Amino acid sequence: MSKKEDSFKKIVSHAKQYGFIFPSSEIYDGLNAVYDYGHNGVELKNNIREYWWKSMVHLNQNIVGLDASILMHPTTWKASGHVDAFNDPLIDNKDSKKRYRADVLVEDYVYKIEEKIEKEILKAQKKFGEDFDKEKFVSTSPKIAEYNNKTKKILTRLNTSLEKDNLDDVKDLIESLEISCPESGSKNWSKVKQFNLMFTTKFGASSDNAMELYLRPETAQGIFVNFLNIQKSGRMKLPFGIAQTGKAFRNEIVARQFVFRMKEFEQMEMQFFVKPGSQKKWYSYWKENRLKWHLSLGLDKKYYRFHDHQKLAHYAEEACDIEFKFPFGFKELEGIHSRTNFDLSNHEKFSGKKLKYFDNLTNVSYVPYVVETSIGLDRMFLALFSSSLKEEILPDGSSRTFLKLPPSLAPIKIAILPLIKKDGLPEIAKKIFNDLRFEFNVAYDEKDAIGKRYRRQDALGTPFCVTIDHQTLEDGTLTIRYRDDMKQKRIKIDSINSTIAKSSNILNLLKNL
Ligand code: ATP
Repeated sequence: MSKKEDSFKKIVSHAKQYGFIFPSSEIYDGLNAVYDYGHNGVELKNNIREYWWKSMVHLNQNIVGLDASILMHPTTWKASGHVDAFNDPLIDNKDSKKRYRADVLVEDYVYKIEEKIEKEILKAQKKFGEDFDKEKFVSTSPKIAEYNNKTKKILTRLNTSLEKDNLDDVKDLIESLEISCPESGSKNWSKVKQFNLMFTTKFGASSDNAMELYLRPETAQGIFVNFLNIQKSGRMKLPFGIAQTGKAFRNEIVARQFVFRMKEFEQMEMQFFVKPGSQKKWYSYWKENRLKWHLSLGLDKKYYRFHDHQKLAHYAEEACDIEFKFPFGFKELEGIHSRTNFDLSNHEKFSGKKLKYFDNLTNVSYVPYVVETSIGLDRMFLALFSSSLKEEILPDGSSRTFLKLPPSLAPIKIAILPLIKKDGLPEIAKKIFNDLRFEFNVAYDEKDAIGKRYRRQDALGTPFCVTIDHQTLEDGTLTIRYRDDMKQKRIKIDSINSTIAKSSNILNLLKNL
């Protein structure tokens, strides 16, 4: 097993062992690419959602929320283009019988070349030490130029073939690159076919005349069909946004990267309606704004990069992804798309209802343009979880595993630990627990030795532990222990609240945006 696979396995098993994520219906052997969030996972997920919601809806006077239903009239998906074009190119390996997304096979091949580039840079960095000029090296190294040309050529061919729906050429490309099945090593490929990703379900009591519906593959359409309801009832003026979080469903062909690609997942989307002609400005604005949101969480900048799309979706004028360095490489975490007036115009056409905005400054009605930001909550969870899971060797040679989550998103903010289960210590500890629980998610733990309890909280990402000991009885102080550096300090009981709030309240993140 490669080092990367090994570290990914550790992430998946940590998530299960500590109650973050379980396979769905596990007692029946699970359901491929469907997962349940456990007692700690749901707290972390809720915190991420809350941070997104507050920063999008509460901090922006011109953005409001919505909670549209998952089931929508089926014509919605004709109008949006999903019935005709929400396809992925599928390829089967005839020997292993494994199914892949043809474009992902090629992209993974390109990623391996990008890794080689990174290795070249690291090698040179080691060789030249402090004098190393990365930019100069990248622009002058013939080997890197060769790698870059190769990836550019491959991606251009892939995108052109997909755009022209030339699936035979996608297969030729896979064969000419000698891409083999990652499971079996076989190069015996089927033809490439298009596969629609929408799930269907029946709506109606009798099976004879039940209407076939789709489970929504994105939350955005719920926003588009409610555009005028919200604009009118909220007396919204352009530019304004509508945000929503909720479940989406896609019958993904390849879904084996844990919660990165699921069949049932959650999106956090915001559609920003703008005057036609101003979309470029707003596209840049949201690109920058969303990256800032990610960076505010304090992870290293090197985890993020923009990827501007060459191949645009059927509705887009401009589009980019914010990519994150997941344990299996840089992959899309969030999309920012300039969607023109495609959706609203099409809903006008298919519904026969007007979806125009009346601009009372110019006395003209028009269909607004849309810039959208769309992030997967589960991918955001995985980004945080995977980059926060750390292992370190301590001075005494033992090792510890800890989850270095941003404190404001950690599932539990503080653990209250009486040193022993007698002498009145649990009573004081319970009183502190009772006082704090109104403001924070607090854990109480009196089982096992104190060192073991600290380790348990480290593994859950709890930023603070406080230990109540005999000195607490005498002077009202206790020991606070910090997750990241394990330092300990004595503080007064009545200063716990402000200590936690200072570093783990979502408010602090919001104020820095
Ligand atoms: P990909 O290219 O990885 O399939 P996409 O371009 O189809 O993603 P969008 O349609 O732009 O994704 O969806 C917006 C966001 O929703 C993505 O950036 C991602 O975070 C999330 N998302 C999409 N599909 C899934 C999925 N199957 N499981 C989990 N999250 C997803």
